[in-house]
Amino acid sequence: MSAQLILHAGKERSLFKRHPWLFDTAVARLDGHARPGDTVTIQAADGRPLAKAAYSPHSKIRARVWSFDVAETIDHAFFKRRVAAAVARRARLPELAGQGEQGGLRLIHAESDGLPGIIADRYGDTVVVQLTSAGAEKWRAAIADSLQKATGCARIYERSDSEVRGLEGLEPVTGWISPASLPPGGGGTEGEGEPIVIAEHGVKLAVDIVGGHKTGFYLDQRDNRRMLAGLAQGQRVLNCFCYTGGFSLQALAGGAASVLSIDSSQPALQQAAANLALNPRLAADRAEWRCANVFDELRRLKVAGETFDLIVLDPPKFAPSASHAERASRAYKDINLLGCKLLSPGGLLMTYSCSGGVGLDLFQKIVAAAACDAGRTARILKRLQGSADHPVDLAFPEGEYLKGLLLQVD
Ligand code: SAH
Repeated sequence: MSAQLILHAGKERSLFKRHPWLFDTAVARLDGHARPGDTVTIQAADGRPLAKAAYSPHSKIRARVWSFDVAETIDHAFFKRRVAAAVARRARLPELAGQGEQGGLRLIHAESDGLPGIIADRYGDTVVVQLTSAGAEKWRAAIADSLQKATGCARIYERSDSEVRGLEGLEPVTGWISPASLPPGGGGTEGEGEPIVIAEHGVKLAVDIVGGHKTGFYLDQRDNRRMLAGLAQGQRVLNCFCYTGGFSLQALAGGAASVLSIDSSQPALQQAAANLALNPRLAADRAEWRCANVFDELRRLKVAGETFDLIVLDPPKFAPSASHAERASRAYKDINLLGCKLLSPGGLLMTYSCSGGVGLDLFQKIVAAAACDAGRTARILKRLQGSADHPVDLAFPEGEYLKGLLLQVD
């Protein structure tokens, strides 16, 4: 029988709302013995069993719920069911079905797929997993096996090198889980760490699953990149924080007059230029890649009197948690202020925050203040979010990390 995590009186409320995180402050004691990642039963102060969860003794999130059905056994078969359900969920959506075959698709979006601490992205015939919690770590083999069974993909690579693992007391782990014969970091038949080429809305992109950000690519922006293509005809586009050029290439595919892309990472820009070369039908002479700090470069462009018709601001996570919100707010304000100033009258601004610590309301206020300080009137044309393979469980609002606004700026 599993150990029991007994709550303080009144601390069961979030579980009744099916929120999957249990914070250390809610826990009165542990009855029995549990190691990191072991399954425990969460019990209310009055003895009612509430959920089966993974125990994380080193984290403020002391337990993450696997199941609100206390009769459910957490075993290999449990992961097989949950992983198969996550994969089947995507197959039901016509816009997603088939994405994984040649393209990129998020198969498991952690808490929002009932699998806390587990991310899985498919790039062609390879699945990249990222395990970020003690519970996920314990079930690595079951998760990998379940992914293989649900997808038919033989190649499973692990990119568990996210910083958040440190909060769980876990070391980084990277390398091939399957086939076991592949060397760590090696791409096997495709050579040492050679990127996988995916197709996204008709554009080819190489994804470096070994050395790229996250699992190699930002799949969450897939729909927004397509939207950009639809807006770009004849426009002078500025893509800030371009990474490997996803937005830039879609702008070119949409017929942009010019695309200036900025990133501070030289390897990302090299990959971006290589990605453009993979697409000979795109007008390479309209693209310029610039290695610079966006904060400085936007100022320089302003001083130089440059203007653009369409600007994308997709910065990294400035606020991983609410405690960073103030500093992050200043950074968001700064780039959005400069972005507004650089737009031609009636120009479009696609602006994002992927910070968990900055909610939609706050983000909108920051951008409103930026437009106001720039002396411009900005109107929301559309609210933007992650693609449908990054669903948000209504019981888990923290899952809605990516928010954006499409603005017209007069
Ligand atoms: N829009 C991209 C993803 C952006 S990720 C896509 O669709 O794929 C954020 C990028 O910002 C990273 O490539 C990182 O190298 C870059 N970056 C972070 N801080 C920066 C800064 N101050 N100036 C320029 N680039 C920066």
